[in-house]
Amino acid sequence: MEECCKSTKEILAMDEGSNVSVRGWVYRFRDFRDKVFMLVRDSTGVIQVVFRDDVAGEARKADIEASVVVSGSLRRDPRAPGGKELEAKSFRLVGEAKNFPITKDYSREYLLDVRHLWIRSRRMTAVLKIRHTVFGALHEYFRKHGYYEVQCPMFVKAAVEGGATLFPVKYVDESTVYLTQSSQFYLEALIYSLEKVYTIAPSFRAEKSRTRRHLTEFWHCEAEVAWAGLEEIIRVEEELVGYVVQKVLENNQEELKLLGRRIEPLERCKPPFYRISYDEAIEILERKGVNIKWGDDFGADEESKLVEEFDKPVFVCRYPEKVKAFYHKNDPLRSEVTLSADLLAPEGYGEIIGGGERIDKLEELVDKIKRFGLNPEDYEWYLDLRRYGSVRHAGFGLGVDRTVMWIAGLDHIVDAIPFPRTIRRAYP
Ligand code: ATP
Ligand code: MG
Repeated sequence: MEECCKSTKEILAMDEGSNVSVRGWVYRFRDFRDKVFMLVRDSTGVIQVVFRDDVAGEARKADIEASVVVSGSLRRDPRAPGGKELEAKSFRLVGEAKNFPITKDYSREYLLDVRHLWIRSRRMTAVLKIRHTVFGALHEYFRKHGYYEVQCPMFVKAAVEGGATLFPVKYVDESTVYLTQSSQFYLEALIYSLEKVYTIAPSFRAEKSRTRRHLTEFWHCEAEVAWAGLEEIIRVEEELVGYVVQKVLENNQEELKLLGRRIEPLERCKPPFYRISYDEAIEILERKGVNIKWGDDFGADEESKLVEEFDKPVFVCRYPEKVKAFYHKNDPLRSEVTLSADLLAPEGYGEIIGGGERIDKLEELVDKIKRFGLNPEDYEWYLDLRRYGSVRHAGFGLGVDRTVMWIAGLDHIVDAIPFPRTIRRAYP
């Protein structure tokens, strides 16, 4: 019977009077004395099924979230979702679902406890479909533009983004290795043969503070380009983000609507994006009464305040040396700032990309590693890249979950990923 099943979406596109079977899960159930209404959902949507007479008695055995197969004939019904309903002729309960633990509104914490079940919700399903589009679009963009996809190790020996957020792991030989915070150094090694490379992989950071936009395991889309500088990499970033937003608008109108996402702000996200300097950002924040001085890093609050001024994403360029990791190249014209840029999303979402030009001279890199209180010996292989055929290069890292959070209009990053890992949660 299952073999000839059609999806709910296919069925709703069929002519009235068609005889069809559908399989899925009970989404809603209403029992009247003489008949039963059931909404059956599958990966494509929902369909209303009406059961009368004997078959209604059978249908009453199914609880919310039970898996079912129904056969019947299709008829018009303007009150049903999609304007049609299935008049059931036969029914089979496949897997029962006694007392499904989510029936009405629960706290975020409870829904995280039962995440393995909550991901069935229409909201989560909509987010996951948008996330699917985002990942696909990232790959498409890079492949269309001559980048090679590469894979980098998750076990590493040294910090990329500072020691404070490293996750130590006891390795096979009992030595300590760490879960990677970023694939950047490995991507840098790969540009000497492939020139333009990217990877989409998890990065791990033992974030110590609870925020709405930090996971301990997040998906990181990173690219590195030989011969490129700050300006070139900024252009890649805005094209990439513009492309991803466009693909979501093309493919996920239904999901955006279900999530109540306003789409006008997304429609505006076409390159070029805004560009301001770190200095200008400080001026704007001071004008807005934020207590901040030149040299401070921006947190979520500052970024949200800053993006109020802009109706599409904005690059903040040339951060001071001390708020950016050691590998950032200092501006040759103004050594206290770096050739760096963060991309901040509008509507309060804040940073989604960090990137810029890397130091390509050996001496400059060794000096800076020392200035940052780090040990050049820990970065031996990375220094080799400056010893053999070094070239100017730039790259960036985009947080995919944060990007999904923004595009889908979510108020917490945990809802952008099916099984979030956070400071307090690694289950289920
Ligand atoms: P933040 O200041 O928000 O912690 P960062 O400066 O540490 O970000 P980068 O090291 O530049 O971030 O990483 C590149 C991108 O990866 C960020 O712009 C963000 O989108 C994403 N990202 C970084 N840390 C996390 C995290 N803990 N959870 C989810 N995404 C993250
Ligand atoms: Mg961080």
